[in-house]
Amino acid sequence: MTAEGSLPRKTIGIFGGGQLARLMIPVAARYGALCHVFDADPHAPAFDLTPHQHRASFDDTAAIDRFAHACDVITCEFENIPITALQRAAQITPVIPDPNHFAMAQDRLHEKTMAQKAGLSVPLFASVTHKDEVKGFFNQHGPAILKRRCGGYDGKGQKRILTSADLQDESLSFLLEGPCLIEALVPFTHEISTIAARGVSETALLPIGDNHHHQGILRKTSVPSSLPDVVLDLARQQTFAVMNHLNYQGILTIEWFVTAQGSLLFNECAPRVHNSGHWSLEGSSLSQFDMAIRVLLGMPLPDPVFVSPRVEMLNLLGDAIQQRDVYERCPRAALYDYGKPIFRSGRKMGHVTFF
Ligand code: AMP
Repeated sequence: MTAEGSLPRKTIGIFGGGQLARLMIPVAARYGALCHVFDADPHAPAFDLTPHQHRASFDDTAAIDRFAHACDVITCEFENIPITALQRAAQITPVIPDPNHFAMAQDRLHEKTMAQKAGLSVPLFASVTHKDEVKGFFNQHGPAILKRRCGGYDGKGQKRILTSADLQDESLSFLLEGPCLIEALVPFTHEISTIAARGVSETALLPIGDNHHHQGILRKTSVPSSLPDVVLDLARQQTFAVMNHLNYQGILTIEWFVTAQGSLLFNECAPRVHNSGHWSLEGSSLSQFDMAIRVLLGMPLPDPVFVSPRVEMLNLLGDAIQQRDVYERCPRAALYDYGKPIFRSGRKMGHVTFF
């Protein structure tokens, strides 16, 4: 037996330095990996946790090359990273998930078409560029939501059309300056998300919770989901169907609507960890961050199981972070402050998980 030897350390590159990267880094460190973070914002929350900072814009090709050469594998914490940056990095270092899967998730039309090809049901939708098409859809199908195809998140870039008066709203013309999708309003009873990871040979899926949104923003996730097993099993099967269809590697989140009849409709997907999976840091044997990092490091991927019978994650939006002392006193609450220097209405400033 040798008394001494060198142990190789893996370096993970993360495009985007938001709260998802900030939550990912300590998990990577637990497995002995180093993280480099690439973001243009000098106040990006993840920079607090690593000295390996690449502060540059996503069109700075020299900075992207330096970043890629410094890393063994690269991932993203935000799906709207420019594809050109991902493709350039991928010429030097593996990017997981594949940049093509980011391209699909960046455009709601491609995303929904992909879901249909994988055999999933989606809300009734149409691609639109003109107000007349929006009006025609509303007259034929009733209440609807107009969404920018690209760039929207947390309910941004959307307008609900509930009455014909809404067709006159000036935000419609603003949205229609870019390509849009119009969707029939789904009378769902539940929103859920599935978070799954696939490595070279193993696939793991996080237990499923119920998501509660308000004004397009996730407020709360409660686990386990209150839905019957038959619906949850279908969501699991359909998630694997998407992964098989895409020959997917890495972590994938899919958001679903569930109707009173138990029908499952694909809403959208993200090739990354997700706000609705934060509860898993305390509530699951493997968190969503473990799942994502394990794929990047080529580690085994056992199926995560609950470690707490009931868990609830509450987002701290805007000035709600100022009440963090309420949660600090609670012994079964895990408080996360993302360290953002400025709060504004609806901005995700932190979260708290009750377990
Ligand atoms: P999205 O950015 O597409 O996930 O939309 C944000 C939120 O708006 C969703 O989580 C739903 O609460 C709501 N929403 C989006 N699309 C629809 C739809 N077609 N029908 C009903 N609610 C929707």
